Amino acid sequence: MAGGSRRAALRAAARERLRTGDDDAPRRPATERVEDGYAVRQVAGTPGRTYRCPGCDQELPSGRPHVVAWPEGRPDDRRHWHTPCWAARGRRGVKVHRSKNAPRHG
Ligand SMILES: [Zn+2]
Repeated sequence: MAGGSRRAALRAAARERLRTGDDDAPRRPATERVEDGYAVRQVAGTPGRTYRCPGCDQELPSGRPHVVAWPEGRPDDRRHWHTPCWAARGRRGVKVHRSKNAPRHG
């Protein structure tokens, strides 16, 4: 009998339970998530500040809720997007650099 594999299955189940448990919960605000190697945050917008959306090259009106996204670990590279532009970035053909293959600048 293959008793060892049963034990491995139990161990895998325990690991699965750990992974979904609070221990491994990412310490991020509820508004932040990760998509395609990008950290994405839904923000309310800052009155008096406008940004240019890289998806459509139009300005984001100040104080308008929108999306801020940056390559994980590189918050200095964050960009401000219209929410629908971020959602549609794949269809628009905006290049999404995967951090694994992206060249490092500095
Ligand atoms: Zn846009």
